[in-house]
Amino acid sequence: MSSRNFIYNSNPARVVFGVGTIAKLEDEAEALGINRALVLTTSAQQEQGREIVERLGGRAAGLCSNAQMHTPVTVTEDTMRVFAECGADGIVSCGGGSTIGLGKAIAYRNDAPQIVIPTSYAGSEMTPILGQTEGGVKKTLSSPKVLPETVLYDVNYTLSLPHSMTLASGMNAVAHAVEALYSESANPVLCMLAEEAVSSMVSALGKLSEAGQTIAGEELLEARTDALYGAWLCGTCLGLGGVALHHKLCHVLGGSFDLPHAETHTVVLPHALAYNAPAIAEPMDRLKRAMGTDDPAGRLYDIAKQGGAPVSLRELGMPAEGIASAVRSTLDNPYFNPRELEAEGLTQLLESAWHGNRPS
Ligand code: NAD
Repeated sequence: MSSRNFIYNSNPARVVFGVGTIAKLEDEAEALGINRALVLTTSAQQEQGREIVERLGGRAAGLCSNAQMHTPVTVTEDTMRVFAECGADGIVSCGGGSTIGLGKAIAYRNDAPQIVIPTSYAGSEMTPILGQTEGGVKKTLSSPKVLPETVLYDVNYTLSLPHSMTLASGMNAVAHAVEALYSESANPVLCMLAEEAVSSMVSALGKLSEAGQTIAGEELLEARTDALYGAWLCGTCLGLGGVALHHKLCHVLGGSFDLPHAETHTVVLPHALAYNAPAIAEPMDRLKRAMGTDDPAGRLYDIAKQGGAPVSLRELGMPAEGIASAVRSTLDNPYFNPRELEAEGLTQLLESAWHGNRPS
């Protein structure tokens, strides 16, 4: 190994991974000293919440199915009241980023131990980041207090994830690993993780998107297992790594035009990667290996298109006139990026993404 200097941080977490791991939930609660768990879900996943309450038996304090997108502080305050009223001493969050966000918001306020059962690929369970909304304004903080003590990945809980969300959530996850490879905080350990993350997630998404909903049985379980394993590692990259142009563009576009989060990542990633490709020889070698192709950006675009995910900013509702202001915002307050940012190249990138062209 060369004599590179680097800093490697790792976030503490106990991870239980596999198919049917929910059977270990009671043991995991006991290990954390949780005797009365408040179970959290969204209203859409209330049924899964009831199953968990049943499984916990006497160790369940109640079920709150009120988690919402962007973690409104009012919802957190209501749930804190329920937590106190039912004498809870711990949290079991079962769901995607919204439910996990609610659990983190409670733990931030009362230090309750958390067991998280992720059911999407968003990766929030692996980060010390909490985004909360108050009075319509979203603010983000980072604190080790919000990191879950135990993450229980059970592939069975992801089988019901709708097809469109599978692709968008999976691509959003891939973006975290891709940018970890060339962010300012890239290091050999993180790069190793990111390569494995991309390999597992992209191969799974390829199978899940090629066959649509037609794969079943063992083949489906295997693809879902690879996707969830990839999601864990991608989430770890987000929790440990930095970000670059791709994330900057998504933040600008999401904030300026109110575009949907995961779908915006899906559309922008192939184009941001193609823009950076000439400046990131070693990360590109890793991505080529991980995806088994000489054209990683094209492969990501093809998977999205094949699976019926959006491939253009136009179909997400961005106005064409917005391209110039998005370029200005990106240049006004840039993130670190391995390739110099310049107006002409960024305009071409966004025009191509707006039209939904295959990146070249
Ligand atoms: P989500 O949690 O809002 O879920 C969307 C919908 O899908 C919900 O109705 C949910 O109940 C449902 N769903 C989730 N998994 C399902 C399953 N297996 N079966 C059936 N329905 C299911 O969406 P998300 O994409 O998981 O998370 C997005 C949110 O997470 C955003 O608010 C984002 O900001 C946040 N996030 C935070 C971090 C962080 O580090 N803090 C990281 C990633 C995402």
